[in-house]
Amino acid sequence: VNNTKTALVTGANKGIGFAIAQGLGTLGFTVAVGARDDARREEAVERLRAAGTDTFGVALDVTSDGSVAAAAASIEKEAGRLDVLVNNAGISGRFEDGAQDPTTLDLDVLRTVLETNVFGVVRVTNAMLPLLSRAASPRIVNMSSNMGSLTLQTGPVMAAYAPSKSMLNSVTAQYARRFADTDIIVNVACPGYVATDFTGFAGERTPEQGAAIVLRLATLPDDGPRGGFFDDKGAVAW
Ligand code: NDP
Repeated sequence: VNNTKTALVTGANKGIGFAIAQGLGTLGFTVAVGARDDARREEAVERLRAAGTDTFGVALDVTSDGSVAAAAASIEKEAGRLDVLVNNAGISGRFEDGAQDPTTLDLDVLRTVLETNVFGVVRVTNAMLPLLSRAASPRIVNMSSNMGSLTLQTGPVMAAYAPSKSMLNSVTAQYARRFADTDIIVNVACPGYVATDFTGFAGERTPEQGAAIVLRLATLPDDGPRGGFFDDKGAVAW
């Protein structure tokens, strides 16, 4: 019997996703590194292995039904079940030259961002559910942002990215209600403003600091909170 818990992190080849993978490895998880680019994925797997993490790579483009189905099949073969799913992969969409000004928004920018940040999460979650259902204490963490808070409205005007995270929050609340009578606990996390490619390395937090709240939500006890929105300091306003 394999008692090691397995976690899948989407977009784990760099940034906060890589730090989450590393953190889960340190906690003793076998980590499935979900990444769409073969070379970037293999490099991340090698770096994690060198740091002592038990890990394997999974080809995963969250925007593709076929890729996601194949990823689920590959995790079933490698691990037989999934204990933790971290839906971390996300994009901002084009924003230069006012591309996310709501008054001139190119609907293709909106579509592209929703396809990854929202539809991708639903696609991956539903494909992994049969594997999550085989775990004793399944946990799902969806990566949101305080820009998705309708109350806080922080950051620049970004008419595709911010609503994509608001919708992700809303979708997560629906999953939490659906899972109310099950062992599956799902929450959304806000990592703060983190120095990654995503922010042009402008964020003041390290990827490890951004990953901390995700690690907490990924390892909640069975009586832990469900359907909440959290950062390091506690609950974030919806
Ligand atoms: P990065 O740009 O450094 O990393 C994003 C990751 O997502 C990359 O691994 C990227 O892969 C992957 N990805 C993008 N599209 C897809 C796809 N279609 N299929 C699979 N993987 C994909 O960003 P961060 O680490 O900063 O961001 C991670 C998450 O945190 C995102 O959801 C973001 O919205 C959120 N976040 C980040 C904040 C910050 O300050 N950095 C603040 C709030 C939220 P590839 O290398 O192939 O492009």
